[in-house]
Amino acid sequence: VAKVIVNAQRILKLDERDPLRELRERFKLPHDEVYLDGNSLGPLLFQVRERLQHTIDVQWGQRLIRSWNESWIELPGVVASKIAPLVGAPPEDLTCADSVSVNIFKILAASLTLTPARPIILSLNDVFPTDLYISEGLATLLGAVRCKVKLTNLDQLEKSLDDQVNVLLMSQVNFRSGEAYDVKIITELAHRYGVRVLWDLSHSVGVLPVNLAANHVDFAVGCGYKFLNGGPGAPAFVYVNHELQQQLKQPLTGWMGHSAPFDFNPEYQPAPGIDRFLAGTPGILGMSALDAALDLWREVCLDTVVEKSQHLSRLFIEMVQQSPVLNSPENNLEIIHVSARGSQVSLRHPQAFAISQALIDCGIICDFRFPDLVRFGFAPLYIRYQDILTTTESLAEIMSTKRYQQSQFQQPGKVT
Ligand SMILES: *Cc1c(COP(=O)(O)O)cnc(C)c1O
Repeated sequence: VAKVIVNAQRILKLDERDPLRELRERFKLPHDEVYLDGNSLGPLLFQVRERLQHTIDVQWGQRLIRSWNESWIELPGVVASKIAPLVGAPPEDLTCADSVSVNIFKILAASLTLTPARPIILSLNDVFPTDLYISEGLATLLGAVRCKVKLTNLDQLEKSLDDQVNVLLMSQVNFRSGEAYDVKIITELAHRYGVRVLWDLSHSVGVLPVNLAANHVDFAVGCGYKFLNGGPGAPAFVYVNHELQQQLKQPLTGWMGHSAPFDFNPEYQPAPGIDRFLAGTPGILGMSALDAALDLWREVCLDTVVEKSQHLSRLFIEMVQQSPVLNSPENNLEIIHVSARGSQVSLRHPQAFAISQALIDCGIICDFRFPDLVRFGFAPLYIRYQDILTTTESLAEIMSTKRYQQSQFQQPGKVT
């Protein structure tokens, strides 16, 4: 008990000194829960709710089609210009459209078309599965002569790079382990072999620095609904290095990517810059929500967020290690250690699913990743240091009582 009190005082001090502490009030969060799933779905910002009300009642409800010119048609570029500083990109090299999956398809197809002598898409075995599924779908569409998918692991990465590889597809943060890969080193390595790199920033944008332009990254995509809090299914973003933009032809040649969509010309003429990566009409409700959510970043410095993110993860690991219950061999909880990390920590246990369910039942909203990981995401804009204490206390209680063994915690739902 004494130990918990000492920790509690130290932790309250950390919260008092936290330069981000006031931001939490801007989010609608349940008072009696700790939300550790902001890496999967960011919570609702009050400013997003207000904006959506305005978009629905005024822009759509009153101004109707006039809103396209008054408020909507430029939105993909406006949203992109707010994401650009978070990823170190010039705003004109980024746009906002579709889902991450669809943007991966466009980029991979465009890169293969540009350099057909290199048919291989190279990625890691444990990349986020949609990245893999899209690559495989493209290989099926194009056939093995024009597209092959090759998977490797980090240790074998350099050995797998050769003059057959067209593009290396990497996620900056491993969604299971939380491991963060070095964008600069890996991009340089690939470039030495003439291989372009596509970075998927879905699990890192808003919690890690990226520096796309400074690191000469060729392509990037990322998610609007995780750490950017754009709402369920918010549009994704796509970045293409300006040196490549003019040469690339992406196959989803919809009218929004045309140089003059409202000329209604029967011939497709791609827009001159990044806009050629647009396809159809954007979903304005989702785009507006993301636009409003991104305004929070006007008040926040990314470095401060990154620092707090790392501190939250370190504190959680430290508290798990120091807890006699969580650290006991009998409880069999293994911390997944990584050399550099995103904003999440995973614990391994054979009963990980049941433990995640028992935690959710106590108001600790975490998730489970097959087959044996409980995953805790720490979103620095609203997670407090005291939430880490609450989490470790609940976890210790669940492990010591073995409450997770109760039958109601054994049944998975459709979304984990
Ligand atoms: C969440 C996530 C996605 C999601 O892709 P969608 O097509 O937007 O559903 C893709 N890649 C990674 C690495 C992710 O973390």
